[in-house]
Amino acid sequence: MSNGTRIDPEEREPRAIKLRQPKHTGRKIVLSVLSALLIIAIGGGVFAFIEYGPDLGFSLISRETSKDSESENPAEDEPLQSSQPEIPEEPVSEPEQVVTEEPIEEDPEHEEDVDEPEAPVVEEPVPEEPKIPKDEWFMILVNKENPLTEDFSVETAAVDNEGHAVDSRILEDLSAMLSAGESEGLDFVLYTAFRSVSKQNELFTARKTAIPGGASEHNCGLAVDIGCAFGEFVGSPEEVWLLEHAHKYGFILRYPADKVGITGFDHEPWHFRYVGKEQAALIKESGLCLEEYLAQE
Ligand SMILES: [Zn+2]
Repeated sequence: MSNGTRIDPEEREPRAIKLRQPKHTGRKIVLSVLSALLIIAIGGGVFAFIEYGPDLGFSLISRETSKDSESENPAEDEPLQSSQPEIPEEPVSEPEQVVTEEPIEEDPEHEEDVDEPEAPVVEEPVPEEPKIPKDEWFMILVNKENPLTEDFSVETAAVDNEGHAVDSRILEDLSAMLSAGESEGLDFVLYTAFRSVSKQNELFTARKTAIPGGASEHNCGLAVDIGCAFGEFVGSPEEVWLLEHAHKYGFILRYPADKVGITGFDHEPWHFRYVGKEQAALIKESGLCLEEYLAQE
């Protein structure tokens, strides 16, 4: 039963194919003609698009927009018109913001102002030279060529109970120096301090001194003669200590042995002169006597 049914459709199929052949050939002809026309049309269209593509493109876009606007009518036209004016209003506000940015043009003016203060800044580091305070009271030069006059006056202060006095402005430093040495076991003796010009003249007239009035540093109250209580001062611990520490309290050895020809005084290891702590250190370091030091510019 099953075998018979399978044979039948195999014999019927070729029959159907034979009957359908003329129909397919007719359709093929029609399809081939249509395909040829389509190829020609497409070819022509492609050629036309290449040659006049831009024109066609504009025409198609314009037609589509015109059709859309015409078909859908005022419903979309009104919102488009209402939205379009809103957009240009925003850029109108933007140029106003640009107007506020005009100060940028003023920058070159500010730059000029900034350049002006830079010039004095370069001039500042120039004036930096150690200047000798020649006009200060503690730098006064007193010697045989530069004597004080009898009208010279100075406010003195007593150093001890033996009648010794000095310029009141150096009393503190002098006392500190003597106390510092004595705290280390030294025994200083103060021989001479301030001596007035008139008193100096009396001694000079009496030939008790070879220095006329006004030519001695003791007349200005800034010099002291210091000795030791025991033995010779030269080579004593007191002399050694003073040569090492006197400048720390503003005093210098005024008449060194190697400056006799310049100072006009013999070597006086006991004679110390006050010039202030700063200048005393500079003079000691320079190795110059006061005449040489003040002769500098
Ligand atoms: Zn002296």
